[in-house]
Amino acid sequence: MKKNLPVLFVIFGGSGDLAHRKLYPALFNLFRKGALQENFAVVGTARRPWSDDYFQETVQQAIVENVNAVDRDLVDQFSRHFFYQSHDVTDENHYIELNNKIEQLESQFKTQGNRTFYLAMSPQFFGTISQHLKAQNLVTDTGYNRLVVEKPFGHDLESAKVLNQQIGDSFAEKDVYRIDHYLGKQMIQNIMYLRLTNPLFDSIWDSEHIQNVQVTLAESLGVENRGGYYETAGALRDMVQNHIFQIASQVAMKKPVSLTSTDIHQAKQEVLNSIQMYDADDVNRFFVRGQYAGNDSENSYREEEQVSPESTVETFVAGKLLFKAGPLQNVPFYIRTGKKLAQKTTRVDLVLKSSHDLFEQNQDNVISIEIDPENKLTVTLNGKQLSQTDLSSLQMKFAYTKDEVAQIPDAYEKLFYDFLIGDRTNFVHWHEVKTTWDFIDRIEKTWQEDAQPPFAYQNGSMGPNEVSRIFEGTTDSWVFKG
Ligand code: NAD
Repeated sequence: MKKNLPVLFVIFGGSGDLAHRKLYPALFNLFRKGALQENFAVVGTARRPWSDDYFQETVQQAIVENVNAVDRDLVDQFSRHFFYQSHDVTDENHYIELNNKIEQLESQFKTQGNRTFYLAMSPQFFGTISQHLKAQNLVTDTGYNRLVVEKPFGHDLESAKVLNQQIGDSFAEKDVYRIDHYLGKQMIQNIMYLRLTNPLFDSIWDSEHIQNVQVTLAESLGVENRGGYYETAGALRDMVQNHIFQIASQVAMKKPVSLTSTDIHQAKQEVLNSIQMYDADDVNRFFVRGQYAGNDSENSYREEEQVSPESTVETFVAGKLLFKAGPLQNVPFYIRTGKKLAQKTTRVDLVLKSSHDLFEQNQDNVISIEIDPENKLTVTLNGKQLSQTDLSSLQMKFAYTKDEVAQIPDAYEKLFYDFLIGDRTNFVHWHEVKTTWDFIDRIEKTWQEDAQPPFAYQNGSMGPNEVSRIFEGTTDSWVFKG
């Protein structure tokens, strides 16, 4: 790990939930490990009129509440790098005041002109902020100027294009870091290591050997207090456009020419470009949406706070993707995600084709990569029952130990370090955003024109029964049954 990286952060939305729960703890861990030392400072901005002292207290509290085993002196020391600027993102004069504060802190903390602007607030302001940053000269010629953008990046292809144009007027693509925090998860990063360094996997990672791939992002919680946001999004926009496509493309891409960020993005983009786009008939055949129906003790989605009692927003989606290029050309990718499902899990299952016809029984060979909450690799094999002649299913498991898992840096810590050293590998390129919105928009359009609401499903199930429709014409089925 590089030490004492000089940088000044401006966090827009510095009083918000994400900043306190994720961003300040990530920065603290980097401070504790020495990547950040004396030459860093943070300006938190939001509308509220907070003092520096009060802001530092909230930062300290965020660390104590969200980081294990903290040394209070270190927390105090850390929080003295934090400053607050009351700021309305739509008021240009406020950017001039903000710049004055930044310049003063740059000289105090000797941050070498390196500026990172982090947009941790409502996406409706992303374009305005980046335009003001340029117009009011906060983007300078000294050091680097990086922009970190939280999801969602747009609401559909059109809005994403407008946003990208606005950002592009102020920042070059190479300086834009679009966050998909799933890319900071260790087991997602491990997919590439596992497949490319083991002949055991590398040699079968193709359409000749793989029958289908299954990507599951299941949550056991409902929408909690995010009903208002969810009503504008739904499972397809909230999870498929970003997280699921990012995982699927890492599995489906060809071997990159090298491990540079450019070559990895190139490989991902090639496979995403090859995705089979669906017309309305295909959408109805290959995609199924659902909504949780509640029970005696739990709300239905429509009974949640800030949710319309007639809402047709989907809390579950399952579908089939086909890539027309890459090693897994034409291999079905079955994807699903939803809330109030049987169990919280993020996992990828690769089901292998049967390689023999000598034995009567045959279990599928499956490679299962569990990402969250487990960090586990399981290979399901066929073998002989000891003392019998029957074929039986055997499991070969590798799980990281509890101690190893406890040492795993949070996804945000990993991503913060990456953008501090200018590594864009685990961030989303504009081309990826564009292609995935194009795909998603076609599904949304079909659903909007469809009179039928999402299928109801039981809380605690794995989605509506109608999901089996996506397997039509095959013998495939879900590996993980909940
Ligand atoms: P939040 O509502 O808690 O915080 C929003 C912040 O923006 C606050 O600091 C608020 O004061 C500030 N703000 C609002 N209007 C402003 C204005 N006109 N001028 C200046 N400041 C203004 O929101 P959050 O949960 O922290 O989420 C922030 C972003 O991160 C959103 O884009 C969200 O989609 C994304 N995100 C959040 C989470 C999460 O777990 N909270 C997870 C993933 C992505």
